Amino acid sequence: MYDYLVVGAGLFGSVFAYEANKRGKRCLVIDKRDHIGGNVYTEQMEGINVHKYGAHIFHTNNQKIWEYINRFAEFNRYTNSPIANYKGEIYNLPFNMNTFNKLWGTVTPSEAIAKIEQQKVAAGITDPRNLEEQAISLVGTDIYEKLIKGYTEKQWGRSASELPAFIIKRLPVRFTYDNNYFNDRYQGIPIGGYTGIIEKMLEGIDVKLNIDFFEQREELERLAKKVVYTGMIDQYFDYRFGVLEYRSLHFETKVIGDTDNYQGNAVVNYTDKETPYTRIIEHKHFEFGTQEKTVITEEYPSEWKPGDEPYYPINDDKNNDTYKKYKLLADDKKNVIFGGRLATYKYYDMHQVIGAALATVEREFSS
Ligand code: FAD
Ligand code: UDP
Repeated sequence: MYDYLVVGAGLFGSVFAYEANKRGKRCLVIDKRDHIGGNVYTEQMEGINVHKYGAHIFHTNNQKIWEYINRFAEFNRYTNSPIANYKGEIYNLPFNMNTFNKLWGTVTPSEAIAKIEQQKVAAGITDPRNLEEQAISLVGTDIYEKLIKGYTEKQWGRSASELPAFIIKRLPVRFTYDNNYFNDRYQGIPIGGYTGIIEKMLEGIDVKLNIDFFEQREELERLAKKVVYTGMIDQYFDYRFGVLEYRSLHFETKVIGDTDNYQGNAVVNYTDKETPYTRIIEHKHFEFGTQEKTVITEEYPSEWKPGDEPYYPINDDKNNDTYKKYKLLADDKKNVIFGGRLATYKYYDMHQVIGAALATVEREFSS
């Protein structure tokens, strides 16, 4: 008999299991995949740590969360500075003085601000209601057309005017010559990859892989007093209020033998609408690798259908309303804890997942 059955060996499930185990509780962690780590999983190829589910850069403003994750790995000084490739034209991201200079030749912040203001007024946007209007009001129509529209519509499979504004607010807009993608105080990549972090968290805990909770639900539920569930919330409730929508992805990873440096940067975004992938990752650059070969991954967005991997929740009004109904059911289930990106249907980054898991631990064990 276990105290907790943890469904999902991703970051949420692993932090919870680690903390519960520390408090003398017995946990069984299961995952339907053949590895631990969920989407932060990394695997070595050619001596390079490959981010199997897309680029993962750890960043946070929260000192406690930074110190927490540093207990499980040493982090390097990697700073994310993706490059945008628009039909062969190269721009710095996030949108900053380097981007504005390349696009318009503006040199001072006031010149760049005036240019954006002029485009925003011409577009007639006063109160942005969707991603398209939000983007134009932040950076003007030129940047929207070259660096946002194509990428966004590929990534989400919808028109930018149907998407929520908050998605584009993830990206800083800066009137300094600073290419750091994040504003957070702490940032880096765990030396040796993310899988080692999860291995440490799950040390001494029973873990069973290749097990889908829904294929043995009753049997598994009988094994523990409580369940920590990090899968899709709508699936847990048998889709009774309908299916929540996601965006899925497909990754193509290639070993390149004839060069040790394919693109000169860890992340290059392809912001036109014709290129079928959104970005190419060159993994070695996350850890300043000097290996002879290099490994790249093309990231192709795709429509999600049941059975596919659900990577991104689509937090538009329709889906958020459906989620609220599931949330009410979840709140009533006193012996099940719902956590993580899928069970709370939130576009969470890693630091937010750790924060949410630690808050859950606090609630669960404080009484
Ligand atoms: P997951 O990692 O999804 O783990 C859930 C686990 O539950 C999975 O292993 C799954 O197999 C398992 N599971 C689900 N259903 C069942 C079932 N029925 N039975 C058994 N097991 C089940 N965050 C950052 O901070 N920085 C980044 O740069 C970053 N980049 C990202 C890039 C991409 C392409 C994606 C998709 C996400 C990115 N993230 C990033 C977000 C980050 O991946 C998540 O915040 C984090 O991994 C979520 O952890 P989780 O435990 O909630 O979910
Ligand atoms: N985005 C864009 N152009 C880019 C990068 C991002 O338009 O070159 C938009 C796009 O809508 C994307 C959102 O900004 O979904 C958030 O970007 P982020 O890099 O945070 O996405 P993630 O890494 O979570 O996929």
